[in-house]
Amino acid sequence: MVVWTTGFRAPDLAREAGLAVGDNGRMLVDATMRSVSHPEVYGIGDAAAARKQDGRELRMGCGPGGLAAACAVRAIGDRLTGRTPRQLRVEGDGHCISLGRKDGLVQYTNSDDSPRGPMITGRLAAMFKEAIVSGAGGFGLRHPTLALVAASRTLA
Ligand SMILES: Cc1cc2nc3c(=O)[nH]c(=O)nc-3n(C[C@H](O)[C@H](O)[C@H](O)COP(=O)(O)OP(=O)(O)OC[C@H]3O[C@@H](n4cnc5c(N)ncnc54)[C@H](O)[C@@H]3O)c2cc1C
Repeated sequence: MVVWTTGFRAPDLAREAGLAVGDNGRMLVDATMRSVSHPEVYGIGDAAAARKQDGRELRMGCGPGGLAAACAVRAIGDRLTGRTPRQLRVEGDGHCISLGRKDGLVQYTNSDDSPRGPMITGRLAAMFKEAIVSGAGGFGLRHPTLALVAASRTLA
């Protein structure tokens, strides 16, 4: 058996471009995903250290990256239309891991990463993950505007 654990690392692009970055190399952004050193630049996803309202850094991952993207797009639209840009407010998160085709784990969490609600395991969890990868992910790529609306529902 091989147990393989890995983490993610931000590329050096932001640092090399002269943008303010944290110790882990992620671009430092404000609550609307704007670079704190270069406000004309927005950062989202693994490369940017967005913070939740409690000050915790948004973890790297596809879900948080999508929320940051929705927040950035919304903030850009707000600024272009003269409105006060709405800030990132994440109410919770979800962890979804596939362990092969027949097993997996789904756990929703609160903003502080403590578990929320029951944990789903087994084949149901694997099917759930498959639905996300093949269904929701693909849907978001094909219909980015609708995906943005859906993501916005999880943003305050
Ligand atoms: C094997 C694996 C499994 C994963 N499983 C999960 C999971 O189950 N759940 C989860 O939440 N997350 C998972 N992740 C993490 C998830 O994929 C990332 O967190 C997510 O893709 C980050 O999105 P992003 O848009 O920030 O970056 P990316 O998806 O990495 O997109 C960055 C893009 O920028 C491009 N790029 C890089 N440098 C340059 C450059 N200099 N010029 C132009 N383009 C450039 C890259 O080619 C890439 O297309 C997994 C990652 C891996 C590798």
